[in-house]
Amino acid sequence: MNTVDQVLSCIDSLIRHPLEPERIPLDQSLYRILREAIQATEDQPPFHRSSIDGYLTHPDQNPGKVRLLPRLPGEPIPVLPLLGTALRIYTGSSLPPGAALIMQEDTRILSDQEIELLKKPSPSLVRPQGSHARKGDILLDSLSLLQPGSLALLASIGINQPKVSRLPRVAHLVTGAELVDPSAQPRTGEIRDSNSIMIRSLLLSYPANPVWHGRIGDDRRGFADSLAEALLHKPDLVLLSGGSSVGDHDHSGSVLEELGFKILIRQVAVRPGKPLILAQKGEILAFGLPGNPLSHFVCFHLFVRRALDRWVNQPERHLLHADLLPGAELKADPRETWWPCRLATQSSKFTASPLPWRDSSDLSCLAQANGLLRIPAGQEAGSPVEVLPTISW
Ligand code: AMP
Ligand code: MG
Repeated sequence: MNTVDQVLSCIDSLIRHPLEPERIPLDQSLYRILREAIQATEDQPPFHRSSIDGYLTHPDQNPGKVRLLPRLPGEPIPVLPLLGTALRIYTGSSLPPGAALIMQEDTRILSDQEIELLKKPSPSLVRPQGSHARKGDILLDSLSLLQPGSLALLASIGINQPKVSRLPRVAHLVTGAELVDPSAQPRTGEIRDSNSIMIRSLLLSYPANPVWHGRIGDDRRGFADSLAEALLHKPDLVLLSGGSSVGDHDHSGSVLEELGFKILIRQVAVRPGKPLILAQKGEILAFGLPGNPLSHFVCFHLFVRRALDRWVNQPERHLLHADLLPGAELKADPRETWWPCRLATQSSKFTASPLPWRDSSDLSCLAQANGLLRIPAGQEAGSPVEVLPTISW
């Protein structure tokens, strides 16, 4: 049986390079990984701008009365006003070189044509051209995560089609004759399929593109046909739910082999989640994930996320250190355990409260969990504990 670290190293060795980059519209690039360095296409700001609502004067202008020059709003100002005159300007107005400005609060209106300057106008109220960045400066490094602020920056310099990592295409096939759609009323012995919605939601919260989904019973032929259909959708990753153990209806391993996959991992020493298949066919990877929802969730966060991250070139995610709070009783186990917990902050430290779960089909704790805390194989959990957040933190 493989350890968690061995499975992670295996995934790393299978995905040595990120997926090829693609150019996509800016409004679809939120949380994508940039695959080019972004240079300023022009000085930022591109012209001298006012940082205030007020008046523009000659830099040698002293306090006192000045004549207000007429100007249409938005009309360019090609040259500085002469001494003894001023022009009305607003925040962001473009200014000629060498300007001095005075805030409206530091003036008194005497008439339509005259104001009094209560202090000396200052050049420091100008945002000079190129003060944020010079044309050619690097504004964003390659491999940056595109957050809302990054998209605003790209928009401001006219980058409308950034080059980003392509999202891995993922097919999810759920198996189990006992499963019915969540909208159906299960008969005795049947249960509602909860893994489909869970995996779809997880894929949409991580860098992934769910391209195909299917649900089948336990018939081996039907399984092979569905997997063949999934492969027609050119997935980078196939996720199989259930059927990955060694029972009579557990066909994942043999069907993957029938379709040309090489099985690299069959079991991992992790609690919950022991039956885990990792297989490869050319560039395609497949995971056979345990059907039990809690195991499914844990294996997704430990292993599937690692593959998705490597495909898009997301840097390795580090575990948080959290003070262990009282909660469910944590028992040592020969297998490394990833226990659902509630992560919070207290006095600027992370805290983790273990949630109770009876067995790996227990969904109630999943609804509250926002992290998985690690108990090393054969050891008692000590404080602080290592926690893998399961939502963005
Ligand atoms: P399996 O891995 O196929 O042996 O399934 C293990 C347990 O997980 C069984 O009790 C299944 O009923 C349950 N299970 C399998 N698939 C799902 C699913 N999609 N949603 C909820 N429970 C499931
Ligand atoms: Mg099953």
